[in-house]
Amino acid sequence: MEPQEIRLRIRERLTSGELPRDHPQQTWVGYGTGQTCAVCGETIDREETEVEAQSADDKFRYYHGPCFQLLTEERFSRSRSGGPGLA
Ligand SMILES: [Zn+2]
Repeated sequence: MEPQEIRLRIRERLTSGELPRDHPQQTWVGYGTGQTCAVCGETIDREETEVEAQSADDKFRYYHGPCFQLLTEERFSRSRSGGPGLA
């Protein structure tokens, strides 16, 4: 999936609330354990980087390393532009 496509998906999910707008409370990085990426919906393979995050809503989510990177960037750009849902 193209990074631009992933960004669009992230924006949609941040807007719909499917992904929390706040940064996670805690994250762990390791190799894939076969979890589903919360951004792109694909399986995180063993040889890929997996980020496990305890999200702001207290749920655990899993992301590909690059997907999580883009998500972090999108969260920052939302907070810079003062988007809805941010005080
Ligand atoms: Zn992904």
